[in-house]
Amino acid sequence: MDKRQQQMADLQAHLQQLGEQFSQRLREELPQLADKALQLQACADPSEQLQRLSELRDQLHKLAGSAGTFGFSELGARARLLEQQTQQWLSSLELQRQGLQGLVNELQQLASVEQISQASVAPVLKTPSVGANRDGAYRVYILEDELKVGEVIRLTLNTFGYQASHFLTTAALDEALVEQLPDALIIDVNLGDSRQTGLDYAAALQQRLEHLLPLLVLTTQNDFYTQLQAARIGAMGFFSKPVDVAKLENRLERCFNQQSGEPYRVLIVDDDRELSSRYRLVLSGANMLVEVVNDPLQLFDAMARFHPEVLVLDVNMPGCSGPELAQVVRFNDDWLRVPIIYLSAETDIALQMSVLIRAGDDFVTKPISDNSLIATVFARAQRARLLSNALSRDSLTGLLKHADIKEQVAIEQERALRSGKPASVVMLDIDHFKKVNDTHGHAVGDNVIRALANLLRQRLRRVDSLGRYGGEEFMAVLPDCNGEQAVSILDEIRQQFSSISFAGEQSDFHVSLSAGVASSHERTADELMEMADRALYAAKNNGRNQVRLADD
Ligand code: GH3
Ligand code: MG
Ligand code: MG
Repeated sequence: MDKRQQQMADLQAHLQQLGEQFSQRLREELPQLADKALQLQACADPSEQLQRLSELRDQLHKLAGSAGTFGFSELGARARLLEQQTQQWLSSLELQRQGLQGLVNELQQLASVEQISQASVAPVLKTPSVGANRDGAYRVYILEDELKVGEVIRLTLNTFGYQASHFLTTAALDEALVEQLPDALIIDVNLGDSRQTGLDYAAALQQRLEHLLPLLVLTTQNDFYTQLQAARIGAMGFFSKPVDVAKLENRLERCFNQQSGEPYRVLIVDDDRELSSRYRLVLSGANMLVEVVNDPLQLFDAMARFHPEVLVLDVNMPGCSGPELAQVVRFNDDWLRVPIIYLSAETDIALQMSVLIRAGDDFVTKPISDNSLIATVFARAQRARLLSNALSRDSLTGLLKHADIKEQVAIEQERALRSGKPASVVMLDIDHFKKVNDTHGHAVGDNVIRALANLLRQRLRRVDSLGRYGGEEFMAVLPDCNGEQAVSILDEIRQQFSSISFAGEQSDFHVSLSAGVASSHERTADELMEMADRALYAAKNNGRNQVRLADD
């Protein structure tokens, strides 16, 4: 059993355990409910009667929301009907003796069911995270009937550090798929086969698979209908031929980043302990990091400590309602980016709307299926992170901005001075970039900048920091890496970059880069950056397309 399977087995066991706890709770709660109905029937004072009735309604509301989630859907549905009945009486301030007897009978019947048996609901968790928890290069399969086109894509992707394979026919791809699934697929629409387009093939394939594979589509038919068809089968990118491979790679990286980043951080506020434990398990099973707060008053402490990316709020809680809590959260500018999802047994759309208008972003009604909980929270978290990244990072490359990379250099150099392990600072600049812009236009120039950013990101280690220092200048800091090592890594990147073929207006072209490296136990961060800059200047003067180590 691998780690993931073990996790799922543990999750299953936990869910089972929670289900049993919930059955136990039902065995206590249902007779209480029946008793309460009896007391209500016996009560003579009209105002006390209404009070008792409203308590009964609240309890039924809660039961209607939770029972279905634990697999007692029949019980949940019956509780929902009784809730609606009591609500009607409350709204009309009128209790019918006859109806009350019906309520008592029904509740007694529910309570007397000897064995409260749980409907068997094995949670089928479809996790959208395909590439998470992986090591090694991403595997990409390319289906392209034109040999040259397919090979150029394959070689370029390999340069970027992917493990790409190219197939000329669907039969060859099928064979490879049996052996091993890729992390992403690139498929040409026109395969020179009159019976089947690449889209037909991909559609059938996606149907067969347990998870949707990230899919990019290549085509000469750039019309709306083809794009729509591609979107329908889950394509995440659409590229007209001749294919701009740097752009293609950029999209591929975005697909993987969305899937394999840090787990999303989710904070749940619900006073129902069993229910919230269950949500926690289900979301954790889908690779999210979850914290639960049962007392709404603890929310702010938890937010300050945990920094959630999504907030999931119960609507009806003692002391403070979910919408009230949401409004208070919105007073604080620091938390404006955190989406708020309500979990509620409230099915009345008008009521849901009135709550959303005050604060909050989405509504999920209880009982909630595990998959819809995962899907809703995942979609919100993904969107929130995308926006948050867009705000704090350079928009063209997704790298740290000028001030942030400088700060990172300072942090790493401090660490290097303390530990005695040298860090290296790299300044890097694209050669004759003005000419690229002048010849091929600014958009193509942007493409080159982005490609270099992606190449650096792929080739440097996780612990290295990388920023866009200026227009076509980059800075990186490599902790625990001496000058010679840094030069050798950078020189490899230099060669790889110069081998990439970019698509220009008239013709394909190649670009080179120059870099300066500085490393020392004794210098300050500012001094190191200056030394790296001087080394870069020397590299430029010495003919460009080279990496220079600064003299200490
Ligand atoms: P050298 O080899 O000496 O570095 O020559 P160079 O032409 O690369 O250097 P220079 O610094 O003179 O030109 C950099 C050019 O980069 C000027 C500027 O218009 C362009 N540039 C800066 N930022 C961007 C950007 O975001 N996108 C594009 N397309 N071009 C940019
Ligand atoms: Mg330049
Ligand atoms: Mg420059």
